[in-house]
Amino acid sequence: MLKLDFHPAGRHFLQIPGPSPVPDRILRAMSYPTIDHRGPEFGALGLSVLDGIKKIFKTAQPVVIYPASGTGAWEAALTNTLSPGDTVLMYETGHFATLWKKMAESLGLKPEFLGLPGIEGWRRGVQADQIEARLRADAGHTIKAVCVVHNETSTGVTSDIAAVRRAIDAAAHPALLMVDTISGLASADYRHDEWGVDVTVSGSQKGLMLPPGISFNAVSQKAIAASREAKLPRAFWAWTEIIDMNQQGYWPYTPNTNLLYGLAEALDMILGEGLDNVFARHQRLAAACRAAVQAWGLEIQCADPAVYSPVLTGVMMPDGVDADAVRKLIYERFDLSLGTGLGKVKGRMFRIGHLGDCNDLTLMAALTGCEMGLRLAGVPLAGTGVGAAMEYLTEHVARPALKAAA
Ligand code: PLP
Repeated sequence: MLKLDFHPAGRHFLQIPGPSPVPDRILRAMSYPTIDHRGPEFGALGLSVLDGIKKIFKTAQPVVIYPASGTGAWEAALTNTLSPGDTVLMYETGHFATLWKKMAESLGLKPEFLGLPGIEGWRRGVQADQIEARLRADAGHTIKAVCVVHNETSTGVTSDIAAVRRAIDAAAHPALLMVDTISGLASADYRHDEWGVDVTVSGSQKGLMLPPGISFNAVSQKAIAASREAKLPRAFWAWTEIIDMNQQGYWPYTPNTNLLYGLAEALDMILGEGLDNVFARHQRLAAACRAAVQAWGLEIQCADPAVYSPVLTGVMMPDGVDADAVRKLIYERFDLSLGTGLGKVKGRMFRIGHLGDCNDLTLMAALTGCEMGLRLAGVPLAGTGVGAAMEYLTEHVARPALKAAA
């Protein structure tokens, strides 16, 4: 156990865009004794989480669960479906799209990176017309997959996946569609089957409210067919044996039993609240957060209101202000963790996470910490963001109520 020299009073505010705070219910569920992963109780647990997670991805097709972080599930998506030297069309929405592209290069694929020039691409979602034009030009169908990030965690921009599907169909191109919704799942509307996604990649530590350590590939029949021809080496990540053993609720290796207890609890919580209510809660909190940023007179990293993320908000600092110095001050004074700027926007912005186990007062506390910290750092503010967020939340009362009257 990490030994801290002091224990600050009160709770820590973990407002990064994942890992998100783990509710007590889930922590308690994870503390049950570990059981035999070949025994009958485990089979029942396996079947129940494999069934429940399909509802979250909105799919009737297999979802593969890995004991790994999201990066592992990225690798699984590529190695199961592609062969050395294959061209993949990827889209630069931010830091995570860039990391996925680097991985494709390391695996011996040939990624082509589309996007808007400079920082502009990091402020807007995927431009589906660019994808359509590139696919139309690929008459020989050398492009084997289109890979996009649904919720770009480095910027706070969400992309329209249905529009990407329409672009592929309009070009009548057979490329697979692969989507990273590591930070979007169970926070932002997502429909694996309806949007015709072939592989959806996700992780446990964001909207699912679990600790890091589980990741997913939701797969289509077309992706499974592609995996029979694909030549990239894979062993641990190979879908076939896992999907086969999953029929009985088991895995070919030792799965992370206690995280699966947590997943079962998370599914109960999310499906109990109702996915539409979960999405509406995230949208409402995100709108209140943006009201605060706008009242401060600061710029939101996402420049297109149609694709504002319900998961996090990127807050840009005025020229000459180091966003990481402001974050450090807020952490030290108020025990509030905010997300750092990544890649091209390092030092230029910080990120406020409002995902998972977050309610009005959690958000208000985070915004209060931000406002006090910005003032202490001497950042000129146009007004009170806390007031603006309170006004938004009281004028847009949550439906349904959090607790029913006695
Ligand atoms: N993709 C996105 C959109 C992410 O937000 C992250 C992590 O934050 C990753 C990929 C990488 O996942 P992990 O850090 O779990 O390996």
